[in-house]
Amino acid sequence: METQRRVLVTGGAGFIGSFLCEALLARGQEVLCVDNFYTGTRRNVEQLIDHKRFELVRHDVTFPLYVEVDDIYNLACPASPIHYQRDPVQTTKTAVHGAINMLGLAKRVKARVLQASTSEIYGDPQVHPQTEDYWGNANMIGPRSCYDEGKRCAETLFFDYRRQHGLRIKVARIFNTYGPRMQPNDGRVVSHFIMQALKNEPITVFGDGNQTRSFCFVDDLVDGLMRLMDTKDDVTGPINLGNPGEFTIRALAERVIALTGTRSRIEYRPLPVDDPKQRQPDITRANKVLGWEPAIALEDGLKLTIAYFEKLLSQTDAS
Ligand code: NAD
Ligand code: UDP
Repeated sequence: METQRRVLVTGGAGFIGSFLCEALLARGQEVLCVDNFYTGTRRNVEQLIDHKRFELVRHDVTFPLYVEVDDIYNLACPASPIHYQRDPVQTTKTAVHGAINMLGLAKRVKARVLQASTSEIYGDPQVHPQTEDYWGNANMIGPRSCYDEGKRCAETLFFDYRRQHGLRIKVARIFNTYGPRMQPNDGRVVSHFIMQALKNEPITVFGDGNQTRSFCFVDDLVDGLMRLMDTKDDVTGPINLGNPGEFTIRALAERVIALTGTRSRIEYRPLPVDDPKQRQPDITRANKVLGWEPAIALEDGLKLTIAYFEKLLSQTDAS
């Protein structure tokens, strides 16, 4: 039997974090979920509140945290463009000061620490698909930079803490992940298109819709994160985690229209500044090092996500 570990999940009341907390509890771990509820909600973890191995603490990771833990998953950071651009200075502080505080904690208690990094560190990539040794093409002064550069700096800090203090670090570069518990108003393409479709409103495709993304269902991603944490101490990453299935945004819109049976039609809107033109993870490393590859096809993941948002809307209508 696996020994029980005390695991800290920052951003644990968010979309990915809440699934990670559940999966860790299911494995018999003790989970300390820390969140300031900036983009996450108590509702995401309400089913866990009475669990005897679960604890929820309101805390902002830009301030130091003094707890005793074995593992730290650092997920705290707004992730959707409209959320992270709302208060960009705070986004950089969360990414950078949050990383420093979690690394400092890991150093003090000798914990393993995993960073939720992102495909955004590749910026608007000129290498396709993106491999981990690509340094990226990110703008440092644009509206996305608070997030991109904050996450890049966090990676720098992780590797410097490793070199300077011998910390046991793990860096996951997460590509677009979707599923139930995304915020209905976060403007991310999957949640936005589904909400628009369910309300029979226009589906807003930005630009010509030929830009691509690769969408990973949340269960697959969480499995990858836990596998990475469980690797030997010499495995640091960075490791791409994402689904290599690549789709244009227009194709995604058409898929959502077909699956929901909506009366909505596509409407084209201006492309946001610095919107990456293409994105697809090369997951050779994850496959080799973690024995991991996503199992859930876009069609199946979309059906589960649509069912979640349908239920959410029916509850809102009833109240
Ligand atoms: P999310 O917004 O649902 O979750 C982020 C959580 O962090 C929220 O619960 C939020 O309240 C919390 N948070 C934000 N600032 C905080 C602070 N200062 N102190 C404490 N908590 C704070 O987003 P998500 O999609 O679940 O993303 C989780 C992590 O994964 C983020 O770090 C994000 O950058 C990374 N990531 C996500 C994706 C994706 O497609 N979902 C892709 C790449 C990377
Ligand atoms: N997008 C879109 N319509 C929307 C929301 C997003 O066409 O209503 C596009 C956006 O311009 C980008 C892609 O969908 O090209 C993914 O956007 P998202 O905000 O989900 O994540 P990103 O990968 O850009 O961080």
